[in-house]
Amino acid sequence: MQTRYIFVSGGVVSGLGKGIATASIGKILQSKGLSVTAIKIDPYINYDAGTLRPTEHGEVWVTEDGGEIDQDLGHYERFLDITISKEHNITTGQIYLAVIERERRGEYLGRTVEVIPHITDEVKARIRLVAQNTKVDFVLVEIGGTIGEYQNVIYFEAARQMKLEGDRVLFIHLTYLPILKHLGEAKTKPTQHSVRELREVGIQPDFIMCRSEQPVDEPRKEKIALYSNVSKEDIISNPDTRNIHQLPLLLESQGFGDKILNKLGVSPKTSDLTEWRDLVERMENPSRAVTVGVVGKYFDIGAYKLPDSYVSVLEAVKHASYLNDANPVLRWVDSKRFEKEGRVTPESLDLDGIIVPGGFGAAGTEGKILAIQYARESGLPFLGLCFGLQLAVVEYARNMCDLPGANSTEIDPETPHPVIDILPSQRRPMEESRYGATMRLGGQTVLIRRGTLAFALYGKERIMERFRHRYEINPEYVSAMEQNGFTFSGYSETDEIMQVGELGDHAFFIGSQFHPEFTSRPLKPNPLFDGFIKACLRTSS
Ligand code: GLN
Repeated sequence: MQTRYIFVSGGVVSGLGKGIATASIGKILQSKGLSVTAIKIDPYINYDAGTLRPTEHGEVWVTEDGGEIDQDLGHYERFLDITISKEHNITTGQIYLAVIERERRGEYLGRTVEVIPHITDEVKARIRLVAQNTKVDFVLVEIGGTIGEYQNVIYFEAARQMKLEGDRVLFIHLTYLPILKHLGEAKTKPTQHSVRELREVGIQPDFIMCRSEQPVDEPRKEKIALYSNVSKEDIISNPDTRNIHQLPLLLESQGFGDKILNKLGVSPKTSDLTEWRDLVERMENPSRAVTVGVVGKYFDIGAYKLPDSYVSVLEAVKHASYLNDANPVLRWVDSKRFEKEGRVTPESLDLDGIIVPGGFGAAGTEGKILAIQYARESGLPFLGLCFGLQLAVVEYARNMCDLPGANSTEIDPETPHPVIDILPSQRRPMEESRYGATMRLGGQTVLIRRGTLAFALYGKERIMERFRHRYEINPEYVSAMEQNGFTFSGYSETDEIMQVGELGDHAFFIGSQFHPEFTSRPLKPNPLFDGFIKACLRTSS
């Protein structure tokens, strides 16, 4: 089947969950036996998300081929259970860089290089390339930002041109219907304005999807239909849900999948969402709760808390919890608090287990080390993700191996015991201030030692997980650590650098140099998270 393109744009406000909506559309198409992939367009100038701080756009998602990209791509991989490559994240920086480099090579043969057609041609070429490489039935394209913004206009223009040039294209516009408290009524005016802006750039939406606290009612649908030139049946409800995984079911219950197929000239197909529905049911009725603390530092921006910085960790905890019939209760624990208090008490960490996630820089690290020490000594289940493992090694070196002042050189370059040190391959890029896409990135094979907790969890000797780091366990300290009871249970295939560390004689204490959260899927939790949640449930009962 010729590839069809579905563009998803947003209006009124950002943060409506365009990524989840796009992933859900993909899910319902998949459930009809059709193949799907997705592209996220980010209209910023950054080449990729690698140099962005997590409080800007949320966590950085790492692809298997080593891309550092927008977190929405994580939702696509999770919902659709696909592995996508870094070319599926297009940024304005990439587009302009490619065009300017081509201009410098003289490839435009002296012509004036302009936004239209050269920039838009580059956008279209990249979108079509994904279709060519993946050969899927549907490419979903999420245009970042909202209509009316100056910076994403080239993407709307490219989308418009694709339709004109004969590609089979569909437009879905996601808007917001605020319910004004003092009126108790959902207002459609912002949606009307936003659709008008879309039509001003030459795009008539095929569907309008309305985010609101409640489902859209008939009078509202009629109004939006009239003002937007969209039939009433094509106004789709996307109300608040308790759980994002409900959305595909909600959309399919409105016949959305077949409506899409119909507009794109594909005959209707029955959908099989049985497994997904079972998952949602399991999520709705867990028989117990598990309380997990994430000890980190990227939580606040102004007066607001932004758990988006750790969205994959959160999702991985959910996957493992629901599979184990438990409702996850997440607590965000700011590690700086322990630094102020100078210690951790059972009251301050009254949880079933703690996760110390990835992180960069010195801020808050002493607090994380105190929390790890507490977990080690009290038997509280602990899972360390990348930086979390590195700090567990620091803690063990200081307190159990008689290496006072041990540290990572990322935190203290003058430490007498650099138990965590920069990867040799990272020295040059750091000296030359080349920060973009220079970390050790993407999928790597890790060998797991038999007879360890890691082996019990993964059940095999070779695993593939995704990395994103510049520092590593210093090989010079490995034997001292092991002699004092720390077990390194996984190491890299190529250079035998330690990649997993654990403690025996503990309810559950393990950390990995990789980020297991990137390979966790709703129906296939990552083994480290699964083991961690099981341990939390064991110790809490
Ligand atoms: N800052 C550490 C490093 O660069 C850990 C990175 C991470 O947690 N992703 O190695």
